[in-house]
Amino acid sequence: MGRKRKRIVRTKPIPTLPTVFDCPICGTTNSINIDINRKIRTAVIFCGKCKIQATRPVRPIEEKVDVFGDWLDQLVEESERRESIAPLTENPEIGEEEQIKE
Ligand SMILES: [Zn+2]
Repeated sequence: MGRKRKRIVRTKPIPTLPTVFDCPICGTTNSINIDINRKIRTAVIFCGKCKIQATRPVRPIEEKVDVFGDWLDQLVEESERRESIAPLTENPEIGEEEQIKE
């Protein structure tokens, strides 16, 4: 009865947070880089493809993935606000009414 070697060392996959992200503006994969400056608590979001750049305040606990998520939320909010000001062409009735008022 030969003793089998016990595998005691298990290689755990270290959970790594993503550091590059897909650009929501130009749609390029892994083109968004985020640079967090902890000293001034500011994060700079930058797309290497379409060169969009955004600056966001960052809390000490936040990581790049959080900054990116916040930025996405902000983009969605902004686009929703824009849509509510300018009626979508999908809804021509509202658009016409708006024009008549003018
Ligand atoms: Zn881009």
